[in-house]
Amino acid sequence: MLPRFDKPLRGLFEPRLWIVILLALALVLGASPVVAQTGDAASCVSTSKSVSCTDVAGYVSTSQSASPQAQQKQSPMGDQKAQPPEEPQTKITPQQAQELFRSVDEILNFVSKDTKLPIKSQVKRELAGREQVRKFVQTHMQKDKDAQRLARSEASMKKFGLLPQEFDLRKFLLDLLEDQVAGYYDPKTKAVYLLDWVAPEAQRPVLAHELTHALQDQNFGLDHWLQVRDDDQRDNPDNLDAGPDEEQAARQAVSEGQGMAVMMDYVLAPSGQSLADMPAMGEIFKQQTMERVGDSPILAGAPMYLREMVIFPYTYGLSFLEEVLTRGGKEMAFAGAFKNPPRDTREIMQPESYLDGHHVDPVRLPKLVSVLKKNYVGYDSGAVGEFDVYILLKQFSGPELAEKLSQAWRGGIYYLGRKKDAKPPKPDSAIPLSDLALLYVSNWATPEDAGYFAKAYSLWLPKKYKTVTPVAEQKGRAWTTEQGPVSIEVSGNRVLVMESFDPATAAAVRDKVLSRASESAPQPRHHMAAPVWASLGVLY
Ligand SMILES: [Zn+2]
Repeated sequence: MLPRFDKPLRGLFEPRLWIVILLALALVLGASPVVAQTGDAASCVSTSKSVSCTDVAGYVSTSQSASPQAQQKQSPMGDQKAQPPEEPQTKITPQQAQELFRSVDEILNFVSKDTKLPIKSQVKRELAGREQVRKFVQTHMQKDKDAQRLARSEASMKKFGLLPQEFDLRKFLLDLLEDQVAGYYDPKTKAVYLLDWVAPEAQRPVLAHELTHALQDQNFGLDHWLQVRDDDQRDNPDNLDAGPDEEQAARQAVSEGQGMAVMMDYVLAPSGQSLADMPAMGEIFKQQTMERVGDSPILAGAPMYLREMVIFPYTYGLSFLEEVLTRGGKEMAFAGAFKNPPRDTREIMQPESYLDGHHVDPVRLPKLVSVLKKNYVGYDSGAVGEFDVYILLKQFSGPELAEKLSQAWRGGIYYLGRKKDAKPPKPDSAIPLSDLALLYVSNWATPEDAGYFAKAYSLWLPKKYKTVTPVAEQKGRAWTTEQGPVSIEVSGNRVLVMESFDPATAAAVRDKVLSRASESAPQPRHHMAAPVWASLGVLY
């Protein structure tokens, strides 16, 4: 399900928040001398002996010795927590831009050494202004195909209950970009873009990140590699195929995780340290990000799914890289991950499944087109990956169950169909959710896990719908809501969810989908015990 609106942003969007957090962590861990000025989030100045940081948003208010062995607690250089972030009034000067442009080659050499990816050509460099960046994204988003995909993704996320019904996804993405972009590499133009509103000192670590993308591109063709394959699946949702969403999400995490790791190494380099010396840095970064997400009001105010989706490639990507680096060294962690990429978000979230080659096959369904097309026109379809399930569980059942049950994910697929007899929506207004029917099939490690997921899903219904009435003769399996019938059924290790389908179509789908369920054999798993779930109240 991971929505397909990343395309216009691909290679462009680097959230400033992560960069600031990573810089702050590196500074606290002893990187020096560093002068970091991130414009409106944090400012650090260094002398030969100390690094002092002032953070207007409140998360790096520290002043300490450059050496971790000789840390001195001093009062922060000003405490401006109450003040809103300030926009820098002055753009960088042409002279500063020239200096930055010159540093590109030096940083590119560092990146090549750090990643063991060879430099194949010079990297073009450009200076971009805010307006230019915004226009670039707007133009891409206005393309018919991308706009249509965005509308479809939005409808699916709303039907799953991941976005409020009135949410405007396009506006959110534009606002987020404007708030958060820190720099970018464009695989189309093969140029790294420096931003004229971000202070030069902050751009060097960002350059290390962007130039990692440049070398990924020179060695593996980044755009093509991230695309996975040409897919017209979303243009023909009747195909009912899991599509490339999961592979794309996994690959994006590889690409961004490497960018974060190199940036970290670049900042740490003057202190003689590197990411390899910092155990569990990915985990620390993940925690810091969750704690500090409030520094970006747009992200903090975003629905959980979007917030976590934006964070995912950077945080989980860094943890993935760390695991592969520990197990197989740089060759496997950088070039290796491009040559043999992880296949889905499960392999990013549980790197051992990638390293041990325990892949999950995508869910394949029997042909349903003839059944569905009588009353529905395919509107959207795709995969529901481990990350999606993790967020669904986290949002509706809480983080503890999400952490444990999502690991039992063994594939998922959804189809969103529009009722043929529905009235056409008014111009510029979304299709009402009651006119959209959702089919969601998921496979689980064991029949027991499938049962737990079905139970959890049924407990969410009162949070998704205004009225939920159990159907007496199908207790625990069927309900009626203001958007029509809902059914949740388990067969073997498979769960079938149908929302807003007419009874005849639902019965025909059930026959086809559940009769095949017993054919997929349960896969072993060892990671959790049922009593944990029992304590969470999701047992029957
Ligand atoms: Zn990046």
